[in-house]
Amino acid sequence: MRIAVAKEVEVGERRVALVPDTVGRLVKQGLEVWVEAGAGEQAFFSDDAYKAAGATIVSDTGALWREADVLLKVNPPKEHEIHQLKEGGVLIGFLNPLGNPNLIQRLAERRVTAFSMELIPRTSRAQSMDALSSQAGVAGYKAVLIAAAAVPKFFPMLTTAAGTIAPAKVFIMGAGVAGLQAIATARRLGAIVEAFDIRPAVKEEVQSLGAKFIEVQLNEETVAAGGYAKEVSEASKQRTQEVLTEHVKQADVVITTAQVPGRKAPILVTEEMVAQMKPGAVIVDLAAEQGGNCACTEPGKDVQRNGVTIIGPINLPASMPVHASQMYAKNVLTLVQYLIKESALQLNFEDDIISSTCVSNNGEILNQRVRDGLTQVKINA
Ligand code: NAD
Repeated sequence: MRIAVAKEVEVGERRVALVPDTVGRLVKQGLEVWVEAGAGEQAFFSDDAYKAAGATIVSDTGALWREADVLLKVNPPKEHEIHQLKEGGVLIGFLNPLGNPNLIQRLAERRVTAFSMELIPRTSRAQSMDALSSQAGVAGYKAVLIAAAAVPKFFPMLTTAAGTIAPAKVFIMGAGVAGLQAIATARRLGAIVEAFDIRPAVKEEVQSLGAKFIEVQLNEETVAAGGYAKEVSEASKQRTQEVLTEHVKQADVVITTAQVPGRKAPILVTEEMVAQMKPGAVIVDLAAEQGGNCACTEPGKDVQRNGVTIIGPINLPASMPVHASQMYAKNVLTLVQYLIKESALQLNFEDDIISSTCVSNNGEILNQRVRDGLTQVKINA
């Protein structure tokens, strides 16, 4: 069985789906691994390193796509790449199935068996395959470094001959995987950190990282199935904003990470709240690509409002390609090893990891939410 690693073509993408160490593990298992020439270049993994791990370096991109039994990617394939996928072959990557159901339909038409890394269940059994978590951790860490570089102040308290410097106040909104990593990073840099999440269950985790948890009493359930946040009513949004405004006003740095799966990101920082912030304050909005948690955010841009800088970074994991690739590769390796036993694909759809993650097989779209999304796209067209 031949596993292939394609070079990413998305603008700004620097990650690669397997790193040499993970290639070596598959080769040891008796699998043949092809790596497209230069696939790891942007992440500083050379063709020679892949070769030393037992991979065959392939310069002919078309041949790599056509002859792969299992093709590994970070980003979804482009239209011209889908045509080249082997019928009956396997594709694994972030496929954005809910955001782009048409892509999944195209893959089903090509009879590709596609696995979407976004849909790995958030269970302890699947933890080592959880690429959303590994990449969110990278983003949370980097968001704090971006904020620390942009804010015109120190993060830590300093006692110097030139006087005492007060520590920066950092407010993290959304304490999921990215938010918790942001809290830990801001604390390591010495800031005073506060955090808020609509799920009260994260309070203890926030506190254990040395941050203060801001509580907002709401008269409705805020947690959906699977432990994710639910979209809340307008009244709850209003109540939350009232409480949060006071904390946003005091902050030197606000980092927003709030998401509701399959929905546009909730607005947590309104224009009025930005207008009340301290001049020189910085907001880093990790939800920029999903519409933003701040009303002023523009994805991929730095926006200035009354002396406040609002940064809307895109694809932060790609800015740390060495470790982001290393972690993603480990997630992908674990999934591949789970799916392939004795050099053959073993698909047991009774297994929740396989049934959640596999979006197309045998010419059919398997995921109901993707099918619903497709119907919606057709109605809107
Ligand atoms: P996410 O990226 O979907 O959202 C980030 C955070 O934003 C979440 O904590 C969410 O509660 C919060 N949020 C949403 N709406 C908000 C609002 N209006 N105001 C404030 N905060 C808001 O989430 P994620 O980081 O991918 O993970 C979230 C859930 O998945 C958590 O329950 C987490 O513990 C769970 N999880 C479990 C595992 C596992 O068991 N293996 C792994 C990873 C994550």
